[in-house]
Amino acid sequence: MRAEIISIGTELLMGEIVDTNTPYLASQLSLLGIDLYFTSAVGDNADRLAGVFQRAWQRSDLILTTGGLGPTQDDITREAIAALLGEKLEVNPELKRRIEEFFARRGLEMPQSNIRQATLIPSAVAIPNPQGTAPGWWVEKEGRIIVAMPGPPGEMQFMWQNEVFPRLQKRTGAIILSRMLKTFGLSEAKVDELLSDLTSSSNPTLATYAKLDGIYLRIAAKAERPEQAREMIARREAEVRAILGDAVWGVDDETQEGVVGKLLTTKGLSLAVAESFTGGFLTNILASAPESQRYFKGGLIATTDEAKVSLGLDAGLVSGKASAEVAKAMAALARSKLGADIGIGIEGESAAEAATGMVPGTVYIAIDSEQIKIHQVQSYSGRLYQMRRRAAYYALFDLMKLLKSIS
Ligand code: ATP
Ligand code: MG
Repeated sequence: MRAEIISIGTELLMGEIVDTNTPYLASQLSLLGIDLYFTSAVGDNADRLAGVFQRAWQRSDLILTTGGLGPTQDDITREAIAALLGEKLEVNPELKRRIEEFFARRGLEMPQSNIRQATLIPSAVAIPNPQGTAPGWWVEKEGRIIVAMPGPPGEMQFMWQNEVFPRLQKRTGAIILSRMLKTFGLSEAKVDELLSDLTSSSNPTLATYAKLDGIYLRIAAKAERPEQAREMIARREAEVRAILGDAVWGVDDETQEGVVGKLLTTKGLSLAVAESFTGGFLTNILASAPESQRYFKGGLIATTDEAKVSLGLDAGLVSGKASAEVAKAMAALARSKLGADIGIGIEGESAAEAATGMVPGTVYIAIDSEQIKIHQVQSYSGRLYQMRRRAAYYALFDLMKLLKSIS
C-alpha cells in the first residue's frame, strides 16, 4: 500500500503553525509497515486543493488528510473530496442529530454553519470524533482509501488511535512491535559501524537516532502474531547488547535521570551537585525526575570565580583556568554543604568569549563519595548549549556506571 499525507490549512503556509500532524502520521504509518511516498501541505483554496487531490488519487492507494473539516467557509476538505469523486454532499440525519446533541450538552444551540459537518457523500462513512464536532471521513472507491481527519492534533490523534489505525491494521494484517534501546558515550558513526551487520536487515529493522542523551536504536519487527514479533525483538536486542555492552543504559520510556534515581533509591543514597560550566542543566534534569526529592538534595550553581569562593572554594584554587582540581573540590563542596552521600562537580573551560559559533571545549566532571572519588575529562566540540547539555548527561552516565559498580 502506497500512502500519501496531505495537511490542509492556509495557516500552515503562513508560518503561523508548524505542521506536527504529518510527522505524527508518518511515524504511525511506518509502524503499520505502510510505505509513505509523498507528503504535502496546501492552503484552503478549492483549485489548489483539487490539484493536490487529483495527483494523490493517481499515485497513491491511501490518502490521509488533516484539517479543513471545521464549520467555517474556509474549511473545504469535504467539498474537495466530493468534487474529486464527482459525488454529491448530503446531510446525514444521524450525524446532524449527534452534532445537535454535542451543542445541547453544553447548553448551546447548534449554529447553522455546523450543518456542513453533518454532510456525507455516498462513498464516505463518518468516523466518530468524541473530542470535537467534526466527524472524520473514511472513503473507499476504486481500490483507494481516503481518510479525512480534523486538524487539531488532539482530535486527530484520538481519532487515529481509536478508529483509523485499527482499521488499517486489519487491512495490512501486520503486527509491528518496536523497542527503543538507549545508549550513551558512543557517536552515531561508531554505533553504525559496530552494528553494520545488523542494520541492513529488513525484518527486524534497526534504526539509529541521535539525541542529546545519547544514540537511540529502534528495533522494529513485523510478524503475524505479537509473540513472534516480541521474540524477534528479544533476539535482536540480545545481539545489540552483546556488541554495545555497558553503553546501553535504558529502553523505551526510561530516562537517564530516572535510571539514576532508581539506583540511588535502591541503594539508599542521596546526591547533590555543584555546577559552573553547565549553568544548572544537571540540577534541572535531576530535579525534573519523578520523586527526585527522595534522593536529590539540590544543586549549587556558580559561574564566576567570586561566586565559587563565596560558596566556599579556595580562592587560590579557582583563580585561573578550569581544572580537574576545581571539579573535585566542587563535588566535595556539594556533598558537604548539602549533606549528601555523593557529590558531583562540573567545571568547564569558560568559553564565554566563544559564546557564538562552534567551540572546542574541555569539561571536568568529578564524583565524590565515601568510597569512591573519580574524575573524568571530556573534550568535545559543538555549539555551547549542546556542550552544556552533553556535559550534564556525561555526568549522569558516569554516576550511573559508578552506582552499578558499588554494591
Ligand atoms: P476546526 O473544527 O477546529 O476548524 P479543522 O479540521 O477545520 O478543525 P483546521 O481549521 O484546518 O482544522 O485547523 C484547526 C487548528 O488545528 C489549527 O488552527 C491548528 O491549531 C491545528 N492544526 C491544523 N492542522 C495542523 C497540522 N497539520 N499540524 C498541527 N496543528 C494543526
Ligand atoms: Mg477550521
